[in-house]
This record gives sequence, C-alpha cells and structure tokens, in this order.
Amino acid sequence: MKYSPGLARLVEALRLLPGVGPKSAQRMAFHLLERNREGGRALARALEEAVANVVHCRRCRMLTEGELCEICAAPRRDATALCIVESPADVVAVEQSGGYGGRYFVLMGHLSPLDGIGPEQLGFDRLEALLDEGEIREVILATNPTVEGEATAHYLGEALRARGLAVSRIARGLPVGGELASAPYTVAEHPLATLAIVAGLGFVIGALWKMGGSRRESVYDGLLARLSDLQRQAGRHWQ
Ligand code: ZN
Repeated sequence: MKYSPGLARLVEALRLLPGVGPKSAQRMAFHLLERNREGGRALARALEEAVANVVHCRRCRMLTEGELCEICAAPRRDATALCIVESPADVVAVEQSGGYGGRYFVLMGHLSPLDGIGPEQLGFDRLEALLDEGEIREVILATNPTVEGEATAHYLGEALRARGLAVSRIARGLPVGGELASAPYTVAEHPLATLAIVAGLGFVIGALWKMGGSRRESVYDGLLARLSDLQRQAGRHWQ
C-alpha cells in the first residue's frame, strides 16, 4: 500500500529525527492524524518558531534565543571557571547536578577527523577569544569518555595548561557536584592501550596549538590522519 502524498511527506519528515525508522515514523504520523491533530499543530508551531529563533550564544555557543544565553548573562555566575562540554544536553546535565556555578563553552561535537570535524568546526577560535578576555582561571574538560572525547580533551588540555590555566578533567559517569572543580584527570573506564595512544598523540597535538597558522595546520592534519587510523584499530574494542 502506498501513502497519500501528504502522509508520505509527513512520514519522511519524521524520519529526520534521530532513532526514528520507517515504522516509528508511521506510528507517529498516524497518532497525530487520528488522535491528536491539535497536538500536531502545536508541534508544527513549536518547530517553526524554534528553527526560526534559536541561535548559538555569542560567548559559549549554547542554544538560546538572545545574543547571550541565560548562563552567560547571569551576573552571579563565577566568571573565572569555564566548563567545556560537547553538547547543549551536557550543559543541562551539569546544571541539573546543581554543583557548578561557573560558565560553559559548548563545542557542538568532538574532534573527529573521519567526519571532517577539526578545531575550526568546534569553535576553538571563539574559545581562544573568550580566554583572551583574561577572566577565566580554571577550566574543566567535560567531554565524553569516548576516543574522540578523550582526544579532544587532550588537545584542549595541553593548550590550556600552556596558557597557565588550571585544567581538570571530568568524564561522564563520575560524580558531578561539589567535587567537580577538583576532579582529577581520569580515563579510568578506558583500556590502557587506547589511553596511551590518545595521551601520546594528544600531547603532541596540544603542543601544536602554540604554533601559528599554516605550519600548525599541516602538522595537525598529519597527526589527525594517524589518530583516525588508531581510532579505527581501537574501534572494535570500543563499540
Ligand atoms: Zn552563553
């Protein structure tokens, strides 16, 4: 049986959502049309408005509707502490823990050479500009405990320490709360082999941060290519 054109478009559109296959999309479409047309209209309006109005915070890249997000605009937040996370969902998770009062920087991903995601895509320029303002003294690296998350943390960690900042590492799964700021660097959940790979490469890549312009980029590209090979080899132990 074929869907009518309008229904086909709806099912296809719903499949854009992560984790939604053809069956789930069909179930959602039928549900909205048969049982909740008002909900469907509200969903359409909310989507329309969010897509039109939600942008990235000028300072931290969090999703927001103003120029600055609520956290960056709040005068009482500790402006000397910065927590670097991969996604807006991580900001929400750390905020819900209630133990952190500083600001954030959202990478919107992690270093992933296979997908063409490097420092530029993660807003490292904007991060450098933020650090250049000179208020931040302490940085907490809260990227995810994956190979790419660790590589990203090492890359950033070396560069941030070179700037004289206090850097600590926290991985998902560790307690997030009062001890957040003092959590030691840890990759305890990881096989030692991968740790060595990531630590070694991360150190070198981090040192490159201090080099300027094209030289940094060419050496960096070479190292990232090597990291992707290692990632591929390590992949089967991880997935
Ligand atoms: Zn912000």
